[in-house]
Amino acid sequence: MKKAVFVYSPEQLGYKFSDTHPFNHKRLTLTMDLLRKINALDETAIIPARIATDEELLLAHEAKYIEIVKKAGHGELRENQGEPYGIGTEDTPIFENMHEASAQLVGGTLTAVDAVMQGHAEHALNLGGGLHHGFQGRASGFCIYNDSTVAIKYLQQKYGARVLYVDTDAHHGDGVQWSFYDDPDVCTLSIHETGRYLFPGTGNITERGSGAGYGTSFNFPIDAFTEDESFLTIYEQAMREVFEFFKPDVVLTQNGADAHFFDPLTHLYGTMNIYEEIPKLAHKLAHEYCGGKWIAVGGGGYDIWRVVPRAWSMIWTEMTDQPLPTGALPKDWLNRWQPEAPVPLITTWQDPTPLYEAIPRKAEIEEKNAMMLDKALHIIRNTK
Ligand SMILES: [Zn+2]
Repeated sequence: MKKAVFVYSPEQLGYKFSDTHPFNHKRLTLTMDLLRKINALDETAIIPARIATDEELLLAHEAKYIEIVKKAGHGELRENQGEPYGIGTEDTPIFENMHEASAQLVGGTLTAVDAVMQGHAEHALNLGGGLHHGFQGRASGFCIYNDSTVAIKYLQQKYGARVLYVDTDAHHGDGVQWSFYDDPDVCTLSIHETGRYLFPGTGNITERGSGAGYGTSFNFPIDAFTEDESFLTIYEQAMREVFEFFKPDVVLTQNGADAHFFDPLTHLYGTMNIYEEIPKLAHKLAHEYCGGKWIAVGGGGYDIWRVVPRAWSMIWTEMTDQPLPTGALPKDWLNRWQPEAPVPLITTWQDPTPLYEAIPRKAEIEEKNAMMLDKALHIIRNTK
């Protein structure tokens, strides 16, 4: 059995709205090139992403919506016909073959699921996935099809697995949460910037699930300007308690890299430290509770030059038990990409310190986050 597989097909790069759209899968190319240049990506570990079938997409999406996405990508949609489906909007503009490219991202996550569940590898990574805002019948927040929702339904149907979904993207993992809100066999855990000033606005601690699924939805909304230490306290506590409470068969982690100080779309003050720690604990707990079964996907991340390639590389080195990369980034990677990058690249794996000026409200923010953590975990703590 392989330690881990890296799922990727060049067709995944076809998920491209425009040259100026913030969601840019050039991140995949930059990350793979960085891993190759430190000799951390063995070519035999790469397996191609398959394309998801319509039948598989129907596990999470309505037939009418899939038809609209297909038509849009083939230039067959009448003006404004896509709007009720979130297609052809500012966030999700129409692009050529958008159905095929989206189905390729979903297929990548399904490829990762099969690799792990069939015992070919202990862990699997599909950085092209993580499109957590996609709804049953509507595109939202740059996401067309929701690969994690499809993959969890697939894990349930094909493998009868109890799944824990962990989402550390700076935005609430709403699409996945609502898909399993009343399902007691799927647990969702999302740590995100509070919805007060950030899309999609949901993810309050009071969203705990409904009906039979009450108590299997966990939300940890953190304050704007939250720094590493407070983020990691919440992450570690939430992870340990939720794993122990739910005891999943398999864990699926969504690894949006948009909680970093540099990210242009959010207001969190994370540094590379959190991206070192996030996969480390997920890995450890996957072994403790799930016999190692860990599937990881990408997600948000809008500083594709200075943040995402370093952050996502660390998921792969962790998964494959390689040492955490430290020191200088490879010169040939910097030389290759600096001419294209609109900002000076960071030249080391860890961030320079200090990365930003001290925040005057630091203590107040930490205090608020600590109170939130307590409240968010109260269901678990009350049943102990
Ligand atoms: Zn995000």
